[in-house]
Amino acid sequence: MKACVLHQKGDLRFEDIPEGQIKDPNEVKVKIQNAGICGSDQHYYSEGGIGSQIVVREPIVIGHEGCGIVEEVGSAVQGIKAGDMVVIRPARPCFKCHNCQKGMYTYCEDMHHLGSAATFPHTQGLFAEHVVVHQAQCYVVHGMSPEVGAFGEPLGVAYNGVHRAGDIMGKDVLVMGAGPIGCLAVAAARACGAGHITVVDIRQEPLNIAIKMGADEACNSKDDPETIEKWCEHKGRFDVALECTGNGFAAISAMKMVHPEGTVSQLGMFGTNSQPKDLANFANKGLHWNAVFRFYDEFGPAVTALERGIVDPLPLLSAKFKAEECQKAMESALSPATMKVQIYF
Ligand SMILES: [Zn+2]
Ligand SMILES: [Zn+2]
Repeated sequence: MKACVLHQKGDLRFEDIPEGQIKDPNEVKVKIQNAGICGSDQHYYSEGGIGSQIVVREPIVIGHEGCGIVEEVGSAVQGIKAGDMVVIRPARPCFKCHNCQKGMYTYCEDMHHLGSAATFPHTQGLFAEHVVVHQAQCYVVHGMSPEVGAFGEPLGVAYNGVHRAGDIMGKDVLVMGAGPIGCLAVAAARACGAGHITVVDIRQEPLNIAIKMGADEACNSKDDPETIEKWCEHKGRFDVALECTGNGFAAISAMKMVHPEGTVSQLGMFGTNSQPKDLANFANKGLHWNAVFRFYDEFGPAVTALERGIVDPLPLLSAKFKAEECQKAMESALSPATMKVQIYF
């Protein structure tokens, strides 16, 4: 079968690899339709890894955001049959380790995450014609376009960010960063009953998309620092911040704009070298700061929101390319002018 294989930094090839087969009775074989290019795929491509810890050491099929049609199911699979459309949950926990036994599957000590070089041998991803996954990784959907289905994984992250913030019903919510996760966080906050949603970024085009995704108000902090300063008065005005940049300065700024004892959900991943230098606001304002890592139970509600049209992710889709044009797709994803880029088979 064909797949998009990253051999090393900058060397992404559309080539033949052996087709995966069902080996465990709990496994499902899926023919991939659409798959989104995530920030981590871009790091693998442009830097050959993520930080200093996760490095591409052998050819790897990248990609972990996608959906497809079931081709074949193992003998122990229930509720999923050939022909079903499924949105794929990329993480496959071991279901056996200490954390899995406690139900904390997201923190499995032997996690296999599709398209990840964190494990060796690397876990092959879903930029491939066929992928074999555990039945627990498949969420059956009906009447969903594959373009929408490929947003299930990142929307799951956004839902987790909102979930970790607690009850946001009627709350005054700040979203830092209007990239794909920021825009999906806007939509998730809206779907979960936020009162007023303000989004902050330094680029105008993503802010316009955030408004389309449901934000009430957008602020370009580069052009309008006075407004940011005003929102910091009286130790901050927002009830909740969803920090989606992973930039230390933006995280500090979010903490300044949230009122005392407010909540910050940290969705943006800090790079290994970044050092938020001033976490004083976290301590001296009694803030609740929640680190958000992937998701578990939030995946189902996120996919349901897409299925029912509660969240429309399509304003975020900048371009799609045939899988054989994966190199072009990746270059497009790396351009600052694009939000989400997909490949399809
Ligand atoms: Zn992703
Ligand atoms: Zn485990």
